[in-house]
Amino acid sequence: MATSLDPVLRDQLLYRRQTLQTSLTESPSSAQLADLLQQVDQALERMDHGTYGLCEVCHESVEVERLAADPLTSFCLDHLPPVAQRALERDLQLARQIQGGLLPRPESALGGWQVSYHYQPAGLVSGDYCDLVDGGARGLYFMLGDVSGKGIAAAMLMANLHALFRALISGGLALGELVSQASRAFCETTLATHYATLVCGRALASGEVEICNAGHLPPLHIHAGKVTELPSTGLPLGMFCSQEFTLTRINLQAGDGLLLYTDGLTEAEDGSGEFYGPERLQRLVAGHCAAAPKALVSACLQDLDAFRRAAVLRDDLTLMAVNRVS
Ligand SMILES: [Zn+2]
Repeated sequence: MATSLDPVLRDQLLYRRQTLQTSLTESPSSAQLADLLQQVDQALERMDHGTYGLCEVCHESVEVERLAADPLTSFCLDHLPPVAQRALERDLQLARQIQGGLLPRPESALGGWQVSYHYQPAGLVSGDYCDLVDGGARGLYFMLGDVSGKGIAAAMLMANLHALFRALISGGLALGELVSQASRAFCETTLATHYATLVCGRALASGEVEICNAGHLPPLHIHAGKVTELPSTGLPLGMFCSQEFTLTRINLQAGDGLLLYTDGLTEAEDGSGEFYGPERLQRLVAGHCAAAPKALVSACLQDLDAFRRAAVLRDDLTLMAVNRVS
């Protein structure tokens, strides 16, 4: 395999070879060092023969990111030896636990607001972003988003967003400025192929809510027994380094609410490939206008289960209900 990484990886391998040889002169009887040296030599041989980066089992290309992380890898993810597979599973389980630790409490009540959410990765980790931050006198911040892609890479970016927003919220910026700065930082630190859609809201004790929607699906606004969509007001986060975001302001009275969700909900499929869809969601929510957040989230999940029956969820799924209680 000829990749643009080859010269870099060759240099890395040569450097490792040199280091190993130095260590071996100091401990000539170390079987581990001898074994590593042999693996490095074999990798260099594969480079000379043009087979470097190909899986030993299927002869397809090994994932480039994995080669960059470990230049000695000679199996694709599908054909890892059992020991390596188990190590990878342990890593993933740990990543799942760490991601779970980044989530807010499932139920929160703060300053006249009540919030409930459901967070469900399609695999072990999720690329969805969901957080609540108590901003004190500045109100309650709620965030729900979706990083492009899936799996570990998306989960790492989700963790990055989590840290970014937490840091920026503590700085007391106006909401539009906060999202612009998060977008800039995300853009500068992320691969050009990755971005995130998200809704960031600030709910004040007065009932006023500011919402900034960066290319995400429209949140549903539940007011006086009716459900309407709040449109997107901006491009996804991190798509361009210099982006400005506008806000939508609404006033919520006691009993009013918002429902935020990722496309794992509306793009869930039934057995025949039909989408759950935003219309069905809107009808369902209209039938539960008076429900408390937890009950609304449960009703959505029950309806989704009834719709998809045995069909598997292919995408990460998150929904969050925010209610004005007083
Ligand atoms: Zn393979």
